[in-house]
Amino acid sequence: MKEFIYNGQPSRVVFGPGTLSNLAREVDELGMRRVLVLSTPNQEQEAGEIAGPLAERLSGIYQKAQMHVPLNVVREALAEVHRLKADSIVTFGGGSTIGLGKAIALETGLPILAIPTTYAGSEMTPIYGITEGGLKRTGRDPRVFPRTVIYDPLLTASLPPSLSITSGINAIAHAAEGLYARDNNPISNLMAEEGIRALAKALPMIYRNGADVGARSLALYGAWLCGAVLGSVGVALHHKLCHTLGGSFNLPHAEVHTIVLPHAMAFNASAAPDAMAIISRAFGCGVDGSAATSLYDLAKNNGAPTTLREIGMSEADLDSAAEIAVSSPYWNPRAFGPEQRAEIRQLLQDAFDGAQP
Ligand code: NAD
Repeated sequence: MKEFIYNGQPSRVVFGPGTLSNLAREVDELGMRRVLVLSTPNQEQEAGEIAGPLAERLSGIYQKAQMHVPLNVVREALAEVHRLKADSIVTFGGGSTIGLGKAIALETGLPILAIPTTYAGSEMTPIYGITEGGLKRTGRDPRVFPRTVIYDPLLTASLPPSLSITSGINAIAHAAEGLYARDNNPISNLMAEEGIRALAKALPMIYRNGADVGARSLALYGAWLCGAVLGSVGVALHHKLCHTLGGSFNLPHAEVHTIVLPHAMAFNASAAPDAMAIISRAFGCGVDGSAATSLYDLAKNNGAPTTLREIGMSEADLDSAAEIAVSSPYWNPRAFGPEQRAEIRQLLQDAFDGAQP
């Protein structure tokens, strides 16, 4: 076996349908006495409902979390933390809400208990991001890592069908890139393969019936594993392209991941054959199957977008997107610096058109 480093993740996971009922117990376990609950405006009502059983442990609810964690929202939430003398954070929602909790923890060191309601996986990473003046500053810090995560699949049943599929493929993207990350290791690879297998099986079931608790459980289990991969190893070309398209062209996060992933896999296939074989195996199509095709079909057959055109990208911006991506590349098994500008431009064109990879 080759030499490797594995960083274990120090969080407690409480998993299963109905486990939200253990929230007060888990809050006590962490010694939280004055909890501030966070949510987006969309999930305000549900946040109020989950906060009820906290009784005297609740200091307040801040329901203005927004996509990409704008600095003005962080400042306002921090003012609430001080005003209410909160000693801890409970995040109820997806990556946007968890992102706000992380920004608060970065500044104050307050502990986070996360209750994820999408498959984005942020609750399993020490990665934070805060946006100011159109620029997202990201970093890693152990202070932002949630201490406890309650994964209750019943909370994901309300995820709209389209977001269910794209959010699930967003999770798969973390695992797929983790398989060829520079610092990948046998443990992260195990989690990645199992996470992809679970989501590849669950998403078509959810597409057929979003209320299927078994499928929702399997998807959330897969999302946990894929998030843990993102939390422990690096990312490459695919995430660079998605950060570029999301950050500079304001395209929706999970949809961009869904559309770009098959094309990023096709670009990297020859440079990362072992990773591709594992992805194919996780899809149940044997090592000779194409990872890129499996991912493309998963999106296409389950109602997810397959073209950047349909989510609002302008074709005229593809040149500058390629330029931004290649001018500060991430590490990738196949180089994609300025010399590969034409290939990356073609990849983006394929994603724009939704070409079969
Ligand atoms: P999101 O948190 O922005 O949620 C999208 C919308 O869906 C929101 O309006 C939300 O209220 C609603 N929603 C969430 N769960 C719901 C449910 N169960 N039922 C009904 N509506 C629900 O979406 P996301 O994809 O989870 O998060 C995207 C953000 O997370 C991006 O900003 C991304 O950069 C970030 N992210 C960060 C990391 C990390 O490690 N730091 C990892 C993944 C994603």
